[in-house]
Amino acid sequence: MLAVFTDLDNCLLDHDTYDHRPAQPALERLKRLGAAIVCTTSKTRAEVEHWLRVTGLSHPSIVENGGGVVLGSGGIELMGRPRAEITPLLREAAAETGARIRCFADMTVEEIAARCNMGLERARLAAARECSEPFVLETPANEAALREALERRGLRLTRGGRFHHALAHEGKHGAVRWLMEHWQREHGSVTTIGIGDAPNDEGFLALMDHPIRLVAGDSGPAAWNRRVQAVLDALGL
Ligand SMILES: [Mg+2]
Repeated sequence: MLAVFTDLDNCLLDHDTYDHRPAQPALERLKRLGAAIVCTTSKTRAEVEHWLRVTGLSHPSIVENGGGVVLGSGGIELMGRPRAEITPLLREAAAETGARIRCFADMTVEEIAARCNMGLERARLAAARECSEPFVLETPANEAALREALERRGLRLTRGGRFHHALAHEGKHGAVRWLMEHWQREHGSVTTIGIGDAPNDEGFLALMDHPIRLVAGDSGPAAWNRRVQAVLDALGL
């Protein structure tokens, strides 16, 4: 079995335009090989469902930085705690450390749309969090103290391309490992390719047979296409 775990923003999707089409040749090649292509993202289940329709991919998917694995049936397996428990603890930790934060929960759909450079309909999907709370840290000097205060509450702090995120799970790698173990039980050996570009991708890239790290100046769907094809060439697939 061949499994591809990919971040979306600035990897399969362009950071600014969200266009995926330059990656189409590699996507088609992976589909012909019967590979499982797993969106592994900080996005919500509702957003991922939109992108699955656009790109012609399907579940399983890893959403909200590994907070949930959305199975083929569309049901979600939570890896941590529900958002309703996370947001109040994040506010408490921020108050304790003097960190000024602005949570997704504080933002209107219009503000989320402006910050993410997306339309209102897409912003509504982004706002539908189930197992994490994204936020802007307006006082970056407080990051270390906030991280520690969150950890004392059993939460973690991670950084994506646009926001900080408070989580009650391990991060993307925990969900990736969960899915890999599931497939190993089912299929025996699994060959894995991973594509990421941000610090919150490092954990799952470390689990991959073939990690692809996209860097500033050579990222987004065109780089995705070229780098994935190079790995497939090297594997003789
Ligand atoms: Mg990214």
